[in-house]
Amino acid sequence: MKYKVLIVTRSFGSASQKPWDILAQAGCETTRADMSKKVTEDRLIDLLQGMDAAIIGLVPVTARVFESAPDLKTVCGYGAGIDHIDTDGARRHEVIITNCPGANDPSAADLTLGLMIAVARNIPRVERELRKGNWDRHQGVDLWKKTLGLVGFGRIGSGVARRAAGFDMKVLAYDPYVDFGRTGLDGVGFESLENVIKQSDFISLHTPLNNETRNMIGAAELAMMKPSAYLINTARGGLVDEQALYAALIDKQIAGAAFDVFLEEPPTDNPLLKLDNLVATPHIGAHTRESTDRMGVMAAQNVVAVLLGKPPLHRIC
Ligand code: NAD
Repeated sequence: MKYKVLIVTRSFGSASQKPWDILAQAGCETTRADMSKKVTEDRLIDLLQGMDAAIIGLVPVTARVFESAPDLKTVCGYGAGIDHIDTDGARRHEVIITNCPGANDPSAADLTLGLMIAVARNIPRVERELRKGNWDRHQGVDLWKKTLGLVGFGRIGSGVARRAAGFDMKVLAYDPYVDFGRTGLDGVGFESLENVIKQSDFISLHTPLNNETRNMIGAAELAMMKPSAYLINTARGGLVDEQALYAALIDKQIAGAAFDVFLEEPPTDNPLLKLDNLVATPHIGAHTRESTDRMGVMAAQNVVAVLLGKPPLHRIC
């Protein structure tokens, strides 16, 4: 085999053989990291010795990692978000970074609607109570004809808007980088962040995590929300100030929240997880059979292209 490729993600190639075949046919020998042990910076450096390429899930890839992996030519971020990869460090060490945008957005958009319904009807709590023998017929709220505020109107945000149309929701969106005329979605009202926050019954976050968006929803923004409103985050932990959210949920300043993503993953002792008005899932937005297959194929194609000196499907730097 000509190339050595490290796989640092649990789900790569678990839905079909296709991603493995793409790598093998290009002469890649694969090594899979044991994901039952935490992948620390030091461990990742050890694992990368002698590797030409790596496909890496949500594990941080720091500048020191790039500095300490002399054979590494490319890293593919297994997903759309690449906030866990130090792209400046990659540039300095001439490692090509790719990612897999568009592979998992239908699944993340589906989950967003699922979380909206779950929190509006408090499905996890009533289900828990029912199993304990309590017939707790919690009174929830409709999604039907409510106002949905989307922060970030890219692949997932616009996918959520299309799905919300089926619930006759009025959709508002804030995205300073979208050309409003080209979204192809009628009926979406583009507004300032403040207007979106103040007017929406459900606010759903769909931006990347970067220096501009970190903590973009803090105490001030939560205070602007309607007391009957819900905050949904299937994008990235770090977009929301979790301490401020905890205070807003405890004080019933907002009605509830539904989060797939957290500042620390997996969370250790996160007080949010003790609250009944927070619905939580363990970063499963992209975890469907279909997304796993699409991401695996795209990641394998990215890696093979770079190793063979061809342009990858999605190059970040
Ligand atoms: P995308 O790049 O298609 O869309 C992101 C949008 O955010 C863009 O339209 C961009 O203009 C907008 N944006 C950037 N900065 C902004 C700001 N300051 N304010 C408002 N809008 C801003 O990305 P996507 O594929 O839709 O992914 C969105 C997010 O979802 C990312 O954070 C990604 O990492 C995350 N994600 C999570 C899961 C999951 O498993 N939960 C799965 C896939 C993606």
